[in-house]
Amino acid sequence: MKFYSTNNPELRVGFKEAVFNSMPQDKGLYMPVEIPRLPDGFFTNLDRYTLPEIAFHVAQNLLGEDIPGDDLKTIVQDAINFYAPAVRLEDNVFVLELFHGPSLAFKDFGARFMSRVMSYFLQDGEKQLDVLVATSGDTGGAVALGFLGVPNTRVTILYPKGKVSHIQELQLTTNGQNIRALEIDGTFDDCQALVKQAFTDAELNERFRLTSANSINIARLIPQTFYYFSAYAQLLKRGISKVVFAVPSGNFGNIGAGLLAWKMGLPVEHFVAATNANDTVPAFLRTGVYEPKPSVATLSNAMDVGNPSNWVRIQDLFKESPSTLNELIKGSTYTDEDTTESINDIFKQYNYVACPHTAIAWKALKEYQQEHIDADTAGIFLSTAHPCKFPDVFDGDVAKAVTIPAEVEALETRKKQAVNLGTDFAGFKGYLLQNS
Ligand SMILES: *Cc1c(COP(=O)(O)O)cnc(C)c1O
Repeated sequence: MKFYSTNNPELRVGFKEAVFNSMPQDKGLYMPVEIPRLPDGFFTNLDRYTLPEIAFHVAQNLLGEDIPGDDLKTIVQDAINFYAPAVRLEDNVFVLELFHGPSLAFKDFGARFMSRVMSYFLQDGEKQLDVLVATSGDTGGAVALGFLGVPNTRVTILYPKGKVSHIQELQLTTNGQNIRALEIDGTFDDCQALVKQAFTDAELNERFRLTSANSINIARLIPQTFYYFSAYAQLLKRGISKVVFAVPSGNFGNIGAGLLAWKMGLPVEHFVAATNANDTVPAFLRTGVYEPKPSVATLSNAMDVGNPSNWVRIQDLFKESPSTLNELIKGSTYTDEDTTESINDIFKQYNYVACPHTAIAWKALKEYQQEHIDADTAGIFLSTAHPCKFPDVFDGDVAKAVTIPAEVEALETRKKQAVNLGTDFAGFKGYLLQNS
C-alpha cells in the first residue's frame, strides 16, 4: 500500500516510511492511496471468524504488499491477543468492550499493533528507536505496555504531575526495562510542547532515532478498524445485520477507523460521534463551520480535545462527496452533568458500570434510537476504557460496584519510578542527552 498526504495527494510513500515518519513533512496526515473493498462473501461469512482471523484478513487487504502474510499474521496475533466482546444490555443495545487489553483502554489496539510493526521494520543492527510520547493518561499506558520488552526500542513518556489517575500513573511508572517515565511539573500541553520541540531539535535528532507514537500514526488507525468488523460479526451470530455505532470521540481516531471500515464495505447504517463539552465536530456537523477551540476540562478527560487531529482524515475520506458524511454521521455533545446522570442510569438499568467516556456514547446511542425507531437495527456503543481507571468520577453504589482487575491489583505492589522535571526544554534535552 502506498500512502499520500492529506495536504499533497501526489505524494507516495510506503507503509514503513509512513509509520516511522508518523506525519508527512507537509504536516498533513497519511492516507491509503486505495481503500480496498472487501468481497461480499467476507461479510456474509464474518460470523465464522475469530477476532484475530478477522484482523488478519483486514490487515492483509491493506498491507499485503508491505508485509508478507506469515509475518503479518504473527504481528496481528501477538498484538490482538485479548477479547473485544459485544455484550448485550437490552434489546438492540450492545456495549463493545474494548478495554480487555493490558492498559485497560481501547488504545491498546493501536499501540500494540504499531509497536510490533515498528519492531518488525527495524533491521538487525539498526539504531535503537526512541519513542517520545506525551500523555494525558491513556495513551502513555497503552504505548508503554505496547512497547514493553520490544527489542531495539525505548519509550520515554512525559505526563503532567498530579493530573493522571492513580492507576494510570502506576501503568506509566512501574514498567522498568525499556520504558522510562518523566513526571512534568506542568500540564499535558506542556508535555506535548516538550515532545514537539524535541522533534525539531537538530542535536537530539542527530543523537537519537526519534519517533512519535501519537494517535495520528497510520499504524494506530488501521488496527482500530478490526473491532468494528468483529462487532458486526458478533451481531450477525445473533441474526442481526443492521447496526449503528456510537463512538465516544476526542481526537476522532476511533470513529475515523469505523468510517474507514465502512469504506472497506462494512455495512453500517449510521455512526454517532459523541463528545463532551469539546464539541468542535458536532458543531461543524450542525453548522458546516469548522471552528477549532481551546480544549476545556471535563470528567471524560481523554476526550478533552478542541481541535481533533484526525478530523482532516475523515474529511479526506469523504472529499468526493461531503454530503455522504453528513448522512452517515450524527454529532451529539454532552455536559458533565449528563455524563454523571448517564453513569447512574446505566447502573440502575443494567447493573453495569461504564467509564465516563463510555457513558457519553450510551447517551448518544439512546437519543439516536429515540429519534430513529427501528426494531431491526441494533445499536452498539463503544466502551473505550475500564471504569477502574477513573475512580474519582463515581460515588455511592456505583463506586462500590467498580471491580479492580487482578493485573491492576498487582501494580500496587510495584515501585513508582519517575524522574521529575520542569517545563523548560533545556532541562528535558539535558536529561535525554545525559541518559542515553
Ligand atoms: C483516547 C480515548 C478516547 C478518544 O478516542 P479518539 O480516538 O481520540 O476519538 C475516548 N475514550 C478513552 C477512554 C480514551 O482513552
